Amino acid sequence: MDLYACDRCGYYYDPEYGDEENRIMAETDFSQLPTNWVCPECGATKDEFRKIDYEEEVDAYEDDYDLVYDDYEE
Ligand SMILES: [Zn+2]
Repeated sequence: MDLYACDRCGYYYDPEYGDEENRIMAETDFSQLPTNWVCPECGATKDEFRKIDYEEEVDAYEDDYDLVYDDYEE
């Protein structure tokens, strides 16, 4: 199963854990989420999520996010 990242806030949907906030059971694949499912952090729709293929890419994405976040703080 694949990890998906929210393009808006950087939240990760991890099928291994599901989404407790929206009562999504663990082991629920992103494709199996209800069409009205939204990001528990920012309310983005499924369309605004993108698939993460490799662990390296996850690391890179997190680094990018940290940089953007730091810029906002200054
Ligand atoms: Zn989000």
